[in-house]
Amino acid sequence: MPTSVQPALAHRFADRFPELSVAHDAAPTQHRTLLALNEPLAAELGLDPDWLRTDAGVRLLTGEAPGPHARPVAQGYAGHQFGGYSPVLGDGRALLLGELNRPSAREPSRADTGLTDLVDLHLKGSGRTPFSRPGSDGLAAVGPMLRELVIGEALHAIGVPTTRALAVAATGVTVQRDRPLPGAVLSRTAASHLRVGTFQYAAALAHQRSQQGDDASDLVARLVDESLRRHHPAADPGLDSPVSERARALLAAVVRSQAELVTRWMLIGFVHGVMNTDNMTISGESIDFGPCAFMEAFDPDAVFSSIDRAGRYAFGNQPAAAQWNLARFAETLLPLLAGTTEAAVEIAQDELAGFARHQSRAWLDGLRAKLGLGAAAAVDDAQVGGLADRLFPLLAEHGVDWTAFWANLADLAPGDDRPQVAVDADPFVPVPAALQTWYDEWASLGPDREAMRRANPRRIPRNRPLDAALTSAEAGDLADVERILAAVRDPFTPRADAPDLERPASPDAGPFVTYC
Ligand code: AMP
Ligand code: MG
Ligand code: MG
Repeated sequence: MPTSVQPALAHRFADRFPELSVAHDAAPTQHRTLLALNEPLAAELGLDPDWLRTDAGVRLLTGEAPGPHARPVAQGYAGHQFGGYSPVLGDGRALLLGELNRPSAREPSRADTGLTDLVDLHLKGSGRTPFSRPGSDGLAAVGPMLRELVIGEALHAIGVPTTRALAVAATGVTVQRDRPLPGAVLSRTAASHLRVGTFQYAAALAHQRSQQGDDASDLVARLVDESLRRHHPAADPGLDSPVSERARALLAAVVRSQAELVTRWMLIGFVHGVMNTDNMTISGESIDFGPCAFMEAFDPDAVFSSIDRAGRYAFGNQPAAAQWNLARFAETLLPLLAGTTEAAVEIAQDELAGFARHQSRAWLDGLRAKLGLGAAAAVDDAQVGGLADRLFPLLAEHGVDWTAFWANLADLAPGDDRPQVAVDADPFVPVPAALQTWYDEWASLGPDREAMRRANPRRIPRNRPLDAALTSAEAGDLADVERILAAVRDPFTPRADAPDLERPASPDAGPFVTYC
């Protein structure tokens, strides 16, 4: 049942982690305008959309008058950015207002702490904080914040775990980038904002305090406890278990959830773009959609971000980048894992080795679903892997659009003698002969085409149309963003209002580049 008043907020993070929390207020706006309200999400969270649209609601969503229940804090974290370590990053333009409690359908039980229903309510673009670096403004612009909303909704609709925007509000403040841009605040919900970088910051702080003779050894242990209880309760060996066991269980759970998450990205051609350790959650949700993009022509080396010059976070490098980040996570747990460093490293390596196993399982299961071979017990993993190994070089060689390929493959009527694939902007060119051979092999396995239509999204937020819609939104016209939102929230069924999201950009458009 929706609340018609200020939503109640808990303050678990601020209460339990004062070392990682700096109380701070959002900057005032000049004139607030709600640009987008995520009504489906508001409903899920039991929030009243009509109240959120009132001036009091918009003041909550911009943070400038967050009401009696909010206790805004900037969160401390560290992070490896493109491989280089920054010991203090923290929220330079963000604030945690507190935690909402998602209405739960479950029967309350004594063992149930209810912590898995907590949802962070967080603001981005709400002004400078004590973590802001000199010269940074703490602000965000309308275009990138609407982009974050659209990407999150698209991932969510496809079934990929993700943080989601509750709203985007314009502030009336001008943000100076390469040109002056209209400012905005994004309100974001997340299972939590605990990151690999949170553990890095805590581990460094504990180490530093111990050098000064203080005992801060419990800080990382408390993060382990919180992470297990909020995000991975099924993996939690229990409060009575030694911390070494709980830390190991958390490492295993995070390795698994990140292996599965990155594999989900790979299956839909999503390139996150900035997989720094501060942008990797402990919950296993996708977070921070800055320079991300969806790949069109299949290309393992696809990079869109202007700042990723070396291709560190290229499409095909994402599993390796995740593994590298998880090794940094494991390092923060070493003092908890065993009495000697040598023994702890051995345990960490054992758990990190689980990544390849989970990734491979998720990848093969995902490919099976895409290929319509999920229920085909007669087709074994080796056959699925072989089909993929023979397909990908052909897609790469012929510049076939990843999303349209799968959507069209599902749509071909049995008996069609030639599969049609999207090359450049034309999704209906006959395939090259080599792909015909592949198609015949696949078709002979008896794929379930109905199941394929539920596994392969037809529509993704394609880079060019989304950019054009964001440019219109900057100028005050939100109609196209709304159209795209509706279309990506409904990715699997045929609809007529977004053909531009179903086929790749024309080759004349040139390479697509994202800027943070
Ligand atoms: P991101 O790339 O969005 O994950 O941000 C990396 C770091 O830069 C975080 O500490 C952010 O808070 C900070 N940051 C990004 N943009 C700004 C900005 N405009 N003002 C202040 N800090 C920022
Ligand atoms: Mg970030
Ligand atoms: Mg960002």
